[in-house]
Amino acid sequence: MMTFRDQLRDELDAIEAGGLTKRERLLTSPQGPHITTANGPALNFCANNYLGLANHPEVVAAAHEGLDTMGFGTASVRFICGTHEAHRELEKEIAAYLGTEDAILFPSCFDANGALFEVLLTAEDAVISDSLNHASIIDGVRLSKAKRFRYENRDMAGLEECLAAAQGSRRILIITDGVFSMDGYFAPLEEICDLAEQYGAAVAVDDSHATGLIGPRGAGTPARAGVSDRVDILTGTLGKALGGASGGYVAGSREVVDLLKQRGRPYLFSNAVAPSLVAGARVAIRLAAAGDDRRAQLDTNAARFRSRMAEAGFELLPGSHPIIAVMFPGDDGARQAAAIAEDMLKLGVYVTAFSFPVVPKGQARIRVQLSASHSEADVDACVDAFIASRDRVTS
Ligand SMILES: *Cc1c(COP(=O)(O)O)cnc(C)c1O
Repeated sequence: MMTFRDQLRDELDAIEAGGLTKRERLLTSPQGPHITTANGPALNFCANNYLGLANHPEVVAAAHEGLDTMGFGTASVRFICGTHEAHRELEKEIAAYLGTEDAILFPSCFDANGALFEVLLTAEDAVISDSLNHASIIDGVRLSKAKRFRYENRDMAGLEECLAAAQGSRRILIITDGVFSMDGYFAPLEEICDLAEQYGAAVAVDDSHATGLIGPRGAGTPARAGVSDRVDILTGTLGKALGGASGGYVAGSREVVDLLKQRGRPYLFSNAVAPSLVAGARVAIRLAAAGDDRRAQLDTNAARFRSRMAEAGFELLPGSHPIIAVMFPGDDGARQAAAIAEDMLKLGVYVTAFSFPVVPKGQARIRVQLSASHSEADVDACVDAFIASRDRVTS
């Protein structure tokens, strides 16, 4: 009989044989547009550092001060003795930023989504989910006993069928990503809210790839779509545009937040965001809210990248979000995308290739993420590397 360890080795070998092994590249510098890895310097185009706040001096200084005034650890979950004043202030500031009554912090957005559905929905209820929702939503939905319905990505006829099928449930909750991370596509929130109202459903949006960078003041996709007062619940992360450290939240009505504080298992049984990170995130949110110049630069960078890449004959998924999917369709696409990304790193440009099962078969891509902290020269260097590597790999 195979030992436990040999069985695991077999599984790892199968992952390797399928070309699916993910390897970490070790950074030896702070996160930013220009990083140093163990293999040398690189221009970074695969971070969620949309506003360039991950190593902003004011954020770093605030975190230092937080460390000095509140110490390193809480050594407790929130409800026992692990809540600093700063935790509560951050929750209020998140709510004010997003225009909700209140907010509750979690160790991560993964945990926020892990808490949400189990607390709000029982077997008498229904949850309706977009097929491309983030893994944390899929897992969170699995933890609830609600009836589950799923519609194809952004398919409003499909959503309406789900809503019709869910009628008779005590509560119906629609959950969608605000921005889909592999495509940079926006969820059609206005249509979703219209259907939700027609069928008596509540709407939750995970705005992890939008908060800070999308919409007026960076308040996210509901603000962009003009439906902030029609979306019931927002979840999001402090790990992307808002400083990029860690932490997540649920924002919504006082009742949603109060109930999560009583029953949300990742809130009750896991330490909160460390105090120094809370202090840094508070400054990051302030900078994001006042960051029209950063958002304008981000838009300029994304537009420049899109137009130069299109000019060079690359196929891009359409849109305006700083997530830009450079497509390599067809049977050979996965190999091409991987080879080009690897070659680009040799030229000092760091991008990531994605293929099945992360994206559908035949839709391999290199996902580029722009930041406000990229200069025009950085963007051009990325495009030039794409062109050079395409020529080298396909010739
Ligand atoms: C990144 C992401 C998360 C996870 O955020 P963490 O705070 O890092 O756990 C959850 N949902 C979506 C849509 C994301 O993009």
